Amino acid sequence: MTTQAVRGWQQSPGQALRVREGFRVEDFDCSGTPGFPGTKRDAKRLMRQRGDTLGELQEKLFAEGRSGGTRSVLLVLQGMDTSGKGGMVRHVLGLVDPQGVHHTAFGVPTEQERSHHYLWRIDRALPPAGKIGVFDRSHYEDVLVVRVRSFVDESVWSARYDEINAWEQRRVDEGTRIVKCALLVSPQQQLKRLAERLERPDKHWKYDPGDIDERARWDTYMDAYQEVFDRCSTDAAPWYAIAADRKWYARLAVTELLTHALEGMELEWPAAAFDVDAEKARLSALRR
Ligand code: ATP
Repeated sequence: MTTQAVRGWQQSPGQALRVREGFRVEDFDCSGTPGFPGTKRDAKRLMRQRGDTLGELQEKLFAEGRSGGTRSVLLVLQGMDTSGKGGMVRHVLGLVDPQGVHHTAFGVPTEQERSHHYLWRIDRALPPAGKIGVFDRSHYEDVLVVRVRSFVDESVWSARYDEINAWEQRRVDEGTRIVKCALLVSPQQQLKRLAERLERPDKHWKYDPGDIDERARWDTYMDAYQEVFDRCSTDAAPWYAIAADRKWYARLAVTELLTHALEGMELEWPAAAFDVDAEKARLSALRR
């Protein structure tokens, strides 16, 4: 056991990382560790501590759902290729019981999905009561890749920001707490990660030649992200900008935001739906 204190957050990540008016994605330092002055070791230790809290809160949420509660949590992860969305799911959601997690990765829409409104597949993926839903990519693809690649006319995608805000507000009103995290990786770091995928045979499966084509559209993507931040960081469902060049920092930040969201729900263990003393008496009668 070490006696060295774990250095914590200097400022609550909910405050430090929230995207507010005036946020400029082009000025954002993706390699920083905003709000957290500690080292990687500090972060790993703190993450373990907060992971214990997160695990307990998730179990309370699950118990609430089993006892007739209707609340849930939705973690939305958006980011460019190599921004670490998959690792985030493994490392952060790996801290809780997998039975309480409802994970969905959104790829290119299937033929069936394309035959419906773009929010159809999103609605179907919402977490049931008592669960933590995770979206690896999300409805925001419909104003990101769809806009950048001109898959629909501007008149169509430009109407979606308000529609998304209204959709999110409805989910919040129904009892889903939404935590939206944009994993912001720098183009230099992306280059490194793509090169590593090519160098290492165990990472070849992650490499997609199409990622290079997307990278060529970096600036257009950043314009699209900027508009998402300008128009869809609402009080009901704010965006958090996560510096993602250092994976240890990004994972700590998302762990903290998720834990904080659950703490804010003031979850309690549900009261027993039976007479505890009577059941104790029945059990002790069996021991005699
Ligand atoms: P990763 O998310 O790490 O790239 P992956 O390569 O395994 O994971 P895919 O199944 O290839 O995932 O799906 C991701 C791709 O799907 C991305 O290129 C993304 O832009 C695209 N995509 C997601 N949603 C949409 C959408 N609504 N319209 C068009 N393309 C979309």
